[in-house]
Amino acid sequence: MVKRPLFVTLLFSLTISIIAESHAVENYKAMPRVASYWQKVKDSVIQCVLCPRRCVINSGQRGVCTVRVNKDGILYTLGYGNPVAVHVDPIEKKPFFHVLPGTNAFSIAVAGCNMRCLFCQNWTISQAKPDEVTAYDMPPEAVVAAATKHSCPFIVYTYTEPTVFYEYMLDISKLARSKGLKNGMHTCGYINPEPLKELLMYMDAVNVDLKGFNEEFYRKMGAFAELKPVLETLKAVKAQGVWLEITNLIIPGLNDDPEEIKSMCEWIKENLGDEVPLHFSRFMPAFRLQNLPPTPLEKLDMAYEIARGVGLKYVYVGNVPGNPKENTYCPNCGKMIVGRIGYEVVENNIAGSKCKFCGYKIAGIWTR
Ligand code: SF4
Ligand code: SF4
Ligand SMILES: [Zn+2]
Repeated sequence: MVKRPLFVTLLFSLTISIIAESHAVENYKAMPRVASYWQKVKDSVIQCVLCPRRCVINSGQRGVCTVRVNKDGILYTLGYGNPVAVHVDPIEKKPFFHVLPGTNAFSIAVAGCNMRCLFCQNWTISQAKPDEVTAYDMPPEAVVAAATKHSCPFIVYTYTEPTVFYEYMLDISKLARSKGLKNGMHTCGYINPEPLKELLMYMDAVNVDLKGFNEEFYRKMGAFAELKPVLETLKAVKAQGVWLEITNLIIPGLNDDPEEIKSMCEWIKENLGDEVPLHFSRFMPAFRLQNLPPTPLEKLDMAYEIARGVGLKYVYVGNVPGNPKENTYCPNCGKMIVGRIGYEVVENNIAGSKCKFCGYKIAGIWTR
């Protein structure tokens, strides 16, 4: 049984401040780095090809994400080495439910995002420019050293959209792996196939937000984003053998249509298999959707039942602490194999990678 003692949970905030004290520099700004994945269009006009937006950027301008800037015909990335958020979190908070339950994830973010989701819970940093926020001075070596110091087996790139700090994430990931640490990210999946392929070579676990299952939702909610590239990302992560979990935030009246949820679950089963954990997350009013109520619990239950009915083996309801649908149940014998209350693991009945009761192999990363 793995249990994170309560006092450790309570110490998280203290741990965060220790990290901040060691590395924060008021309004610290490192020199911009030359970015990867761009091409010249004409004269000093260039095109960034890191994500499906494929921004064409004039000299002196930024791409949609505001993180990548054209200076005299060269694309630079801002925020390299300057995370805006640095926390030690339970890995369950990412959320990863099939990855080393009860361990901590060293979690970092640079300001910025290539989407503009109207419901963003982290909009104060995702919609900020990396050169206009107070940031930490943490080159990759410092991130890996801090993760090691705080006994985190995983570094997770999260909170904002890691794609936009691609170069920083990649450098940390390479170094972390060489030191025996693992890498994970929580992403909107809005990244082009080539950079994704390179990145996945160093990723151990990826949680992709599948925000809805129709193009119109992505167009309206994500500032003219598209669903199709996200589906391609999901398939690529699976095909490259990296551990995959999916989060679907259910927003009342916007993406809670039962038929659409069923279609999404069927697509997941057909294209990614029935062992990919699916987290239905409860919406709370945020950013530009303050007018909507929190997702009614019945809607989350409905989505859960649909997904289970389609045949997905590992389905969860998130943002509802104490709900029994936060637990993992063995698909073979039906017994509870990982018990959770919020982000706290209160019971773990996985031995090696198998159900302790019946020996059924449970998909995931269970050993360091
Ligand atoms: S990463 Fe940023 S600059 Fe590049 S295409 Fe995407 S939004 Fe545009
Ligand atoms: S992709 Fe994520 S971080 Fe970016 S705006 Fe949407 S919810 Fe926020
Ligand atoms: Zn079992």
